[in-house]
Amino acid sequence: MKKELNNWQTMDSNHFLHPFTDHHDLSKKGTRVITKGDGIYIWDSEGNKILDGMSGLWCVSLGYGNDELIQAAYDQMKELPYYNSFFQCAHPPAIELSQKISDIAPDSLNHIFFTGSGSEANDTMVRMARRYWQLQGKPDKQIIISRKNAYHGSTVAAASLGGMSGMHEQGGLPIPNIHHIAQPYWFEEGGDLDQDSFGLNVAQELEKAIEHYGIENIAAFIAEPIQGAGGVIVPPETYWPEIQRICDQHEILLVADEVITGFGRMGDWFASETYNLKPDFIPFAKGVTSGYLPLGGLLVSDRVADVIISKGGEFTHGFTYSGHPAACAVAIATINFIERETILATVKDQTAPYLKKQWESLINHDLVGETRIKGMVAAIELSKEGRERYAATIGVGSICRDLAMDHGVVLRAVGDTMIIAPPLIINAQQIDELMDKIKNTLDATLKTIQSL
Ligand SMILES: *Cc1c(COP(=O)(O)O)cnc(C)c1O
Repeated sequence: MKKELNNWQTMDSNHFLHPFTDHHDLSKKGTRVITKGDGIYIWDSEGNKILDGMSGLWCVSLGYGNDELIQAAYDQMKELPYYNSFFQCAHPPAIELSQKISDIAPDSLNHIFFTGSGSEANDTMVRMARRYWQLQGKPDKQIIISRKNAYHGSTVAAASLGGMSGMHEQGGLPIPNIHHIAQPYWFEEGGDLDQDSFGLNVAQELEKAIEHYGIENIAAFIAEPIQGAGGVIVPPETYWPEIQRICDQHEILLVADEVITGFGRMGDWFASETYNLKPDFIPFAKGVTSGYLPLGGLLVSDRVADVIISKGGEFTHGFTYSGHPAACAVAIATINFIERETILATVKDQTAPYLKKQWESLINHDLVGETRIKGMVAAIELSKEGRERYAATIGVGSICRDLAMDHGVVLRAVGDTMIIAPPLIINAQQIDELMDKIKNTLDATLKTIQSL
């Protein structure tokens, strides 16, 4: 197996450009080749069994090897592997899925524009939000307010919406008319304020930005209900009600990017329910197909859809793979499975509370300065003491991530923040196993940095 692995690593390093990767670094270490998945576990080419604490990339909510999803893709591919929905055509999977998602979405969202990914969903949002205001006779309303350290994808518009300075620096981004305000990240930026006052202050930055740029120029505000890639940042309880108030008062469009939080991660179909939000747009992707095939989309509120449809003419936008039939068939199977197996109730009433109790006890570990958890996403901040971080040169987060793999669990590091987003099908016994592996990883990490 070692020989095969060496082969793969050589081919990989000669030809394969990976996403978000330092290739110099990777070619020294060699890529890890994942060859198999079953349930909540993956296996690498060397036969190591690893508990996937990240559901792939936040997407494999129903775990690996779900026969119903596989069968749905196979059946649809046999029947009709591809057709487009341009030129006044459609196919049953996209039609049925649009009905299904409308049924489970918050009341006022009943239309869907399909895409192939979350990034494309956000690009679609930018175009549709501006089109909406144009049709309302307010073509100057172009500006979209977003937040620092947000992640909305990697296409030019989505990376511009995102607030990752590292991404902006490499590509002359953001594009015009996208501005960023502060994020509700208390651990990092809360200073002497308590969580609630901080949450309120940060939310009010939106109102200040509206005053600064002028309401006549503002189209929308976009945010993830919980920042994912930024480090599972669960905002203080005061944050979202104040944001909703500001959006209502100034009548700007609210975009809840639910690419991670949608389709059950909070124990509700959408985090907009969990947080009582009234968004005009919900970009989604990832969990909609449990990651088995690429699919994304934009849920659109009645107020926007009515204008686009009734005053619209042609909305000059779309992708070859918008609403791909096999991907839509898998999404329908995913929703059916979640409904029939009552996954949401299990997450909400059993597994998420069980995980929460154990997760919060990690605060007793010497390495842990804060724990955060909501539904099936969670974070710990690795720190010396309280909010005092280790020197960045130590790279304690990367050390912890690498040791996690050695201990048979996938954890993701965002700087010195360790995050998880386990499959929604994880059971109590597997949560015990996850927590044991994480505790062992933390012990090993502490030992390693003490020996530096
Ligand atoms: C992953 C992600 C995206 C981008 O989705 P892709 O399918 O990778 O293009 C957008 N928004 C959020 C919140 C995400 O986590």
